[in-house]
Amino acid sequence: LYQELAELDKNHFLHPTSPIQQQQEQGPAFIFKKGEGVYLEDIKGNRVIDGMSSLWNVNVGHGRTELGQAAMEQMSQLAFSSCFATFSNEPAIRLAAKIADIAPGDLSATFFTSGGSEANDTAYKLARHYWILKGQPSKKKIISRKKSYHGVAMGATSATGLKPFRDFTNSLAPDFYYTENLSAEALRETIEAEGPETIAAFVAEPIQGAGGVHIAPEGYFQEVRKICSEFDILFITDEVITGFGRTGKMFGMEHYGVAPDMMCFAKGVTSGYAQLGGVVFSKAMFEDFKELSAGTLLHGYTYSGHPMACAVGLKNIEIIENENLIENSGKMGEEMLKGFKWIQGERELVSEVRALGLIGAVELKSDKGQFAPAVVAEAAKRGLICRSVIFDGMDILVFAPPLTINKQEINSLVEILHDSIFAVEQRI
Ligand code: PLP
Repeated sequence: LYQELAELDKNHFLHPTSPIQQQQEQGPAFIFKKGEGVYLEDIKGNRVIDGMSSLWNVNVGHGRTELGQAAMEQMSQLAFSSCFATFSNEPAIRLAAKIADIAPGDLSATFFTSGGSEANDTAYKLARHYWILKGQPSKKKIISRKKSYHGVAMGATSATGLKPFRDFTNSLAPDFYYTENLSAEALRETIEAEGPETIAAFVAEPIQGAGGVHIAPEGYFQEVRKICSEFDILFITDEVITGFGRTGKMFGMEHYGVAPDMMCFAKGVTSGYAQLGGVVFSKAMFEDFKELSAGTLLHGYTYSGHPMACAVGLKNIEIIENENLIENSGKMGEEMLKGFKWIQGERELVSEVRALGLIGAVELKSDKGQFAPAVVAEAAKRGLICRSVIFDGMDILVFAPPLTINKQEINSLVEILHDSIFAVEQRI
């Protein structure tokens, strides 16, 4: 079966974010067929720990039949109807209300999308529209940070600070600017250099994920919030990875006691059981939209407010709350960090480790090259999926296991990681 599927895969399937030549030569490393808890199983019978929750998103773990049940019940009642104009449906209404309930500050009105890239494009576009409504159409620049990742739609790619993603194409959306990573002082300087009267919004991930799991220094986000308010610039948080319990809080920004004007979410809202994302707007912005919009809000996706996806989202949040997965994320995150620190003590190749809840990183040091991809390959052989970040000379392993992970599974993850790093050290 593997041979048959691998041939079809090579001939017909253009994979997202893939090393095309390697894929062509070697075929798929895993053809997964089943998931249960933190484990994935492929068609050859290999069982591996999903140390990344697949794409940082399977927060409640694999094989949750309740979510399949919620999808089936909704689809058998009403699989789809439009939310354009004055049409609505109950799961979308209830999910929007639920998100208002759990989101930081006075974030209170949700615009739904199908994923995180669309959420980012929506945030930038509606931020600019907002300033048009407020009579300040010159405010259109979007500022982001140099190691950020915001997705692959045209706006989201343009906002992504990691240069290789932008260099992949040869023309980007205009009016995007980048500031130094994790420095509030640099943000102030960028704003002053560009002119606050030309800037619509600043966007930031509470913890930078794809850029290597970088955690902000003390006081950073409080200062960022102050600067944005001072210069009348909208503050957008991109909680696509950090939302829904990942960091040991419902949303990452809760660690800093800071509320944005707009918040992007996706991934963990359904734990990947359905395609859903969105942008939540502050009450003040929503009130302004209602008061100042004379015409139609000309922005909307066919699947904005998809009834099945929203029903799955509701059930997924219920599971996160009922099973205390946020608390587990905090506790198991500490265990994971303890394990990383132990590895750091044992293995010379490790320079730095960090984690907040169940998102973490192990940084490597060597003057002989980048070794994270080799560690990832060794880990896969030993039954652990993790990911390497090697942009701009970085050499980092990143982790984001399901929030359901237990102590024993953390220990397995740490043990396999240690052995994989050791195996690579032997070859250097
Ligand atoms: N924003 C962040 C912070 C992300 O990590 C991602 C995806 O990894 C996105 C946006 C894009 O989301 P999607 O892949 O659902 O379009």
